[in-house]
Amino acid sequence: MKAFGGGRFRAAALTALMLAACSPRDGDDGFILRAPPKAKDRAESQAGGQSPAAPLPPAEQAGPMLSDQACDQGPLTNAARTNAVHYRSLAWSPFGRSEMGWETYQRLIAREIGSACPPDSPGFAAALARWQANNGLPQTGVVDQAVFVQMKNNWQMKRPVVRSMRLGGCPAPPSPDQLATARPDESYGGKTIQLRRGALAAYRRMVQAAKAEQPQIARDARNLTIFSGYRSPEYDAARCHRDQNCDGLVRARCSPHRTGLAMDLYVGQAPGYGPDSSADPNRLYMTKTATYAWLTANAHRFGFVNYPFEPWHWEWTGEAP
Ligand SMILES: [Zn+2]
Repeated sequence: MKAFGGGRFRAAALTALMLAACSPRDGDDGFILRAPPKAKDRAESQAGGQSPAAPLPPAEQAGPMLSDQACDQGPLTNAARTNAVHYRSLAWSPFGRSEMGWETYQRLIAREIGSACPPDSPGFAAALARWQANNGLPQTGVVDQAVFVQMKNNWQMKRPVVRSMRLGGCPAPPSPDQLATARPDESYGGKTIQLRRGALAAYRRMVQAAKAEQPQIARDARNLTIFSGYRSPEYDAARCHRDQNCDGLVRARCSPHRTGLAMDLYVGQAPGYGPDSSADPNRLYMTKTATYAWLTANAHRFGFVNYPFEPWHWEWTGEAP
């Protein structure tokens, strides 16, 4: 069971907030709309998400997970078969936008249900069924939209800004003396990055561990550099105005980046895409990188949680916003 009332917490109002606030229509981090999609993203969108798959990064070529004999046993073979098919072909809208398959969320789902089994195995289905029982859902062992809605609620409620919004509104931005500036080598492309002091210190501890524990991360100096940190409400408001792509209150009201606790980290990029492109092939590619794999398995040790639609967006939970 998870914190904040566990999986059974399903207040209708919260669900509505989650679904509305975290729609990708709201863009970056779920609370604020970014610039109009780039041409390549638009083309992908118009094609109904059927753009050519990007080549997979090295981590995936070695296999997504180690198989285990125990994974191949169990009564839920039909569920495993359904999961195998739906893995890349489930037609659904987990974030309000049509997607195909749940492969992009496989690492998060596997971590949520505590399974190291391949996603098409009876062992994975059995672990999911146990999770479903603990969350008051039918024990089908099949990943579907109802399962994902519950998981998403669990994940979202770990995000400080989401909890803050639920408890009373958008948090005030930190004062300037609460912010620290990242070193140039910690920033992607030389941008000036500011974060709350505790968040920057935790980020540094995490990066040091990541590079020591996963040599593939250290091989590319861009990995885990920060391309967005603290953004003032005024900055975001100006960006909305400038881009003519922000319908006021709903989208501009509360970016997590105003807290100084949120950061966008370089986790890789598919050929032809940027490190913050939400195009489906790019998001899928990112979730296969060694950097993202390490983060999903270890970032919690340093107090970080992910916004699941954006593999690059991480929030530090060590202080209230
Ligand atoms: Zn972000």
